[in-house]
Amino acid sequence: MTDRVVIVGGGHAGVTLAALLRQSGYDGEVMMMSAEDDAPYHRPPLSKNLHEPEAEQPLRPDHFWSDHDLVLRLGTVVDRIDRVRHEVVEVGGRRVGYDHLVLATGAVPRSLDVPGAELEGVLTLRTLGHARELRGFLAQPGCRLVVVGGGYIGLEVAAMAVGAGAEVTILEREQRVLARVASAELSAFLTEHHRAAGTTIVTGVEVTCFEGSDGRVTSVVLGDGTSVDCDVVLVGIGALPLDDLAVSAGLQCSEGILVDNSARTDDPSIMAIGDVTRRPVGMLPGRSRLESIPSSTEQARQACSVIMGSAPPPSEVPWFWSDQGDLKIKIAGVVRAGDSVVLRNDPAVGRFAAYHHADGIVTAAETVNSSGDFMAAKKLIGSAMVIDPTLLANTATSPAQAIVTQPQVRA
Ligand SMILES: Cc1cc2nc3c(=O)[nH]c(=O)nc-3n(C[C@H](O)[C@H](O)[C@H](O)COP(=O)(O)OP(=O)(O)OC[C@H]3O[C@@H](n4cnc5c(N)ncnc54)[C@H](O)[C@@H]3O)c2cc1C
Repeated sequence: MTDRVVIVGGGHAGVTLAALLRQSGYDGEVMMMSAEDDAPYHRPPLSKNLHEPEAEQPLRPDHFWSDHDLVLRLGTVVDRIDRVRHEVVEVGGRRVGYDHLVLATGAVPRSLDVPGAELEGVLTLRTLGHARELRGFLAQPGCRLVVVGGGYIGLEVAAMAVGAGAEVTILEREQRVLARVASAELSAFLTEHHRAAGTTIVTGVEVTCFEGSDGRVTSVVLGDGTSVDCDVVLVGIGALPLDDLAVSAGLQCSEGILVDNSARTDDPSIMAIGDVTRRPVGMLPGRSRLESIPSSTEQARQACSVIMGSAPPPSEVPWFWSDQGDLKIKIAGVVRAGDSVVLRNDPAVGRFAAYHHADGIVTAAETVNSSGDFMAAKKLIGSAMVIDPTLLANTATSPAQAIVTQPQVRA
């Protein structure tokens, strides 16, 4: 009998795993169910290069699936897992048996539950379909876009839309953009940068409803009664893990499927990878949910090594990138409240790094147009060496020269 791996979800995590299995010599069946009708594609360009030909980039060429004897079933939604019979049950009732089941169902945009949210033109951005819809609105000359939420996706879309001639307003509930995920230094720099490019950024405001005419959104109303006129709204207020299959199957979940650092759930036949998971991350306590391509790739490697029975891959320093107009932002590690921040170079020149450290141990670095700092920070975070913050700030010496002691032993 042939061994079969069933992968639910055709996003970056699932596709990477399918490819890795064949690269590693797995000769059993690999079947991937994807709810979407589009063949798997890259999500990052959707908020960055929407107007460029490379906006719609397949993750693999069409012939890849047959070349590698991988079964890709598009437009196929898995409805439940029968853990006793080791089968998934699709909407429509078809049952497919598995030896290894890998859940890679990703996340969905958080919706804003206010009156008018159902109006035409109130959009979110996760899929190619969403991106095509947004592109349709932005193609109208003089389009007025309101972005609700000053997170990474909102800022990327704002940069892209302003560059394409739209009038853009970002409405953020917190006192600064990226409040939950970035340092005050990076938030301040980006706010200034986006304002200089022509985007209006309003912080500390709550959206209370959307108003419309003939079923289409025409304005966004704020808590103080003022309103912002618009032709289209992008709600970019975060994403929720699509863990309902796992929850209903009784797997351990807590706002995401709980996995260990080999992508295993509490069922030995079921693994989970990508945005849907909550997993151990470096020096952070408990488990965290990362939403990034590098994290999905790392977990796909972990799942592959479990299936192949090979040595687990070394753990990686988490990282993330964001392109906003001419800014290349790369973040190594995970930004935590309470760590100290030291700047290398001056944000005023548009190239700098904000290193975060706890008692001299670097925990994260936010780098803007500074790939040298990004590479250096990854090494410092991975090695847990203690640095002298004053030396780190000194651009006459390299980040490595700021190291003052040998590696700390991590628990
Ligand atoms: C606009 C945008 C820009 C981004 N930019 C960056 C960036 O610059 N850098 C970065 O590192 N990350 C970025 N990300 C995040 C990155 O795209 C995600 O981390 C990555 O796509 C996660 O991959 P995944 O496979 O876990 O989930 P997904 O890509 O969400 O794929 C999950 C798939 O599973 C399918 N599915 C769900 N439930 C079922 C079911 N029951 N049956 C069958 N199929 C199902 C879904 O339809 C979906 O196709 C961005 C994300 C977005 C939306």
